[in-house]
Amino acid sequence: MDRIALILFGPPGSGKGTQAKLLNGSLGWPHVSTGDMLRQHVQAQDELGREVAAVMHSGGLVSDELVDRLVENRLKQPDIRDGIILDGYPRTVAQAGVMSKLLAARGFRPVVVHLKVDYNKIVARLSGRRLCPQCGSLYSLASNAPTVSEVCDYDGARLIIRDDDREDVVRHRLEAYDSQTLPILDYIREAGITYYEVESTEGTPAEIAQRVCAVLPAAEGTAPAAR
Ligand code: ADP
Repeated sequence: MDRIALILFGPPGSGKGTQAKLLNGSLGWPHVSTGDMLRQHVQAQDELGREVAAVMHSGGLVSDELVDRLVENRLKQPDIRDGIILDGYPRTVAQAGVMSKLLAARGFRPVVVHLKVDYNKIVARLSGRRLCPQCGSLYSLASNAPTVSEVCDYDGARLIIRDDDREDVVRHRLEAYDSQTLPILDYIREAGITYYEVESTEGTPAEIAQRVCAVLPAAEGTAPAAR
């Protein structure tokens, strides 16, 4: 039986990161986020981090070659066994082509889940987003606020607003999504990759995760049920 690569697809602010974390908890598959990997390099101020910092802060896209290499290396790690959850990759048609090859070579069957959201809600949602710089927990002031304002529930760290959640940057990210990422859907159709849409504008993160899990069993034939 093929193992599944669940590819969470959707605009910035559609909740890919939140869903990936929830599904990682229920399915046990590693959460592979290119955004998180890139941010780790930026924080470490290593060579790669210095190379990508400016383009990330402006809301533009990092080069395909660099991101493809990051994912390829990540797929070599031993925790990648039963399945994976890809978040933020692929983001261009060229990356989608590389992804198909990388996954096929490792016996993964790609299943794309498109988190559909109302664009008008995205800007509001992102400007209310907070991140714990220590443990990576995500909060939303509207739907998932921390118990104590601006403080992480898990480790007490002061929450931060990501630079690229500022409104002008969010608009730039949405433009990049429209022009460079949405065309991937044509590629997915032509390549015959399994594809589902999940309505994500309404509902709590847990409810949306249930909708995602509900489409997965049909994709595989046997249910990787949420534990
Ligand atoms: P979001 O999905 O909320 O936009 P991410 O954390 O996925 O945020 O990505 C943050 C930034 O990292 C992007 O704006 C982009 O600059 C860069 N990035 C992440 N993934 C990719 C990718 N697959 N290709 C190119 N750039 C990427």
